[in-house]
Amino acid sequence: MSSSSGQRVPSYQVAAVLQNQGPKFSFETHKLAIPTINPQEVLVELNVTGFCGTNISLACGYLGPCQTILGHEGVGRISAVGSSCTSEAATVGRLVGVGWIRDACGSCRVCDSDIKDESRCIEQVFSGRDVPGTLARYTVVPERYITPLPDRIPSEMLAPVMCAGVTGYKALKVANIATGAEVYLDFENEDSLRSAVLLKTEGMLCSAIIVCAGAASAHEQALNCLDYHGTLVAVGIPPPASNISLHPLSLIGYGIQIVGSIAGDRVDIAEAAEFVRKELVKPRVTKIGIHELENYAGRVNELDGKLVVRLGPKVG
Ligand SMILES: [Zn+2]
Ligand SMILES: [Zn+2]
Repeated sequence: MSSSSGQRVPSYQVAAVLQNQGPKFSFETHKLAIPTINPQEVLVELNVTGFCGTNISLACGYLGPCQTILGHEGVGRISAVGSSCTSEAATVGRLVGVGWIRDACGSCRVCDSDIKDESRCIEQVFSGRDVPGTLARYTVVPERYITPLPDRIPSEMLAPVMCAGVTGYKALKVANIATGAEVYLDFENEDSLRSAVLLKTEGMLCSAIIVCAGAASAHEQALNCLDYHGTLVAVGIPPPASNISLHPLSLIGYGIQIVGSIAGDRVDIAEAAEFVRKELVKPRVTKIGIHELENYAGRVNELDGKLVVRLGPKVG
């Protein structure tokens, strides 16, 4: 296969393929055909992809049906451009990211109204759930959802931005608070988080709390630690049957707001990547080859650094 610019694309690729979706899932490395692109799409040759806990939830079947190629933190270069693509972004060689949000229609009432939130597009397409993900050397991206990344930064430093990084960054934007911490509390060592927060802040509570834990109890504890007009930002997803128990008076009495934050759109990714480019954020990563994924996938939460899977011989 050759691209519209004449660049050669090999005849097959290596991908990590999910086997036996369910609690006993595994990954196998397979040789697969290179995906073909339609005139409005580009082909991306990925250098690396991050691997986050959502892949585990998908592999286990907790989030419903999924693709056999998971992954949504890919970084690579456009290697072929569909014949109808006209945008400047659709250029062979451009460094791009492939995140959880794979496409947005741009014309539904969420994308194209005062709501203007493509991360919640009614036609939303998610990577690894609705279309093959980034645990493969090649992937297809619609021209309208190309996500350019800053060049001359190692791909493994940008991969964590594509999901984990941008999700944290977006949650901070939603919470409308500045970054930085003066006090650290370990919930496992506190009988009452509320009492501990009151003690450390001399009688105040939290202006905003971002709950990244996938546990309903974490959301409940957070509600209990919010100050007047405080904001709870829900990010972590508890299992489907886990509901939060709350009495409306806790919202009414304190004027508390609860809001959800999901990944981030292309603007958020570009802003989050700037922190890496300026070296204000230096992701710690554990880099592995695609053949090693089977040994590491179940240990993502135990590693000292974000798991990043190398998809080709070159990284950079
Ligand atoms: Zn839409
Ligand atoms: Zn993720």
